[in-house]
Amino acid sequence: MKIVMLGAPGAGKGTQAKMIVEKYGIPQISTGDIFRANIKNGTELGKKAKTYMDQGALVPDELVVDLVVDRLSQDDCKNGYVLDGFPRTIPQAEALTAALAAQGEKLDYAIDVEVPDENIVNRMSGRRACVNCGGTYHIVFNPTKVEGICDACGGKLILRDDDKPETVQHRLSVYHAQTQPLIDYYKAEGILKAVDGTKNMADVFADITAILGE
Ligand code: ADP
Ligand code: AMP
Repeated sequence: MKIVMLGAPGAGKGTQAKMIVEKYGIPQISTGDIFRANIKNGTELGKKAKTYMDQGALVPDELVVDLVVDRLSQDDCKNGYVLDGFPRTIPQAEALTAALAAQGEKLDYAIDVEVPDENIVNRMSGRRACVNCGGTYHIVFNPTKVEGICDACGGKLILRDDDKPETVQHRLSVYHAQTQPLIDYYKAEGILKAVDGTKNMADVFADITAILGE
């Protein structure tokens, strides 16, 4: 099962992708997580990506596409995967379609997690990320047992720099200009499924499993 998660930053793509991983046993591939790991490890890619990420801009397509295509060729992807945060532009989507077609493959589902802009700022200002394992929480909607500490690994939680309100507005406008057109792209491919992302996490996931099957 090959799935793409669509939706604004903070819509809940990563949250739902992790639940898909648990239930369906396919890996989550998050380009944001890959870039953050590269930043943490001080790689050249991380240094380049950081300048864009800090501004709430997209990392250029040429730094993203080969990275993902290479990742999808790894063994754990042979039964499928859930892509979270990729593609984010039409050229990225076209490159993905072409790379899959070259292997005689195609995506099965593009799931659009719909959340209006007015809910997004709350979602992102309350999001807390673990510096150690990348786990994601929300101070109101998905709090940790101990404030500031990751339930999964005991790591410290932070507010991501790009989740600060001044950057969130810009990320939202980048989303509308560059990523939202993917909804029509995947509608035309006949694989678009929309879910109401304003429901609570468990109800959103129930709607997703109704699409993917038990
Ligand atoms: P994305 O991957 O789309 O950027 P996340 O999955 O990181 O979004 O979710 C953004 C924030 O909103 C996180 O703090 C997460 O805990 C919270 N969140 C996710 N889904 C929901 C939901 N259905 N209701 C309320 N909060 C949610
Ligand atoms: P995310 O963790 O998905 O919210 O991504 C955080 C940031 O990483 C984005 O604001 C972009 O700067 C960058 N990024 C992640 N995925 C992509 C992508 N597919 N294309 C371009 N930039 C990306």
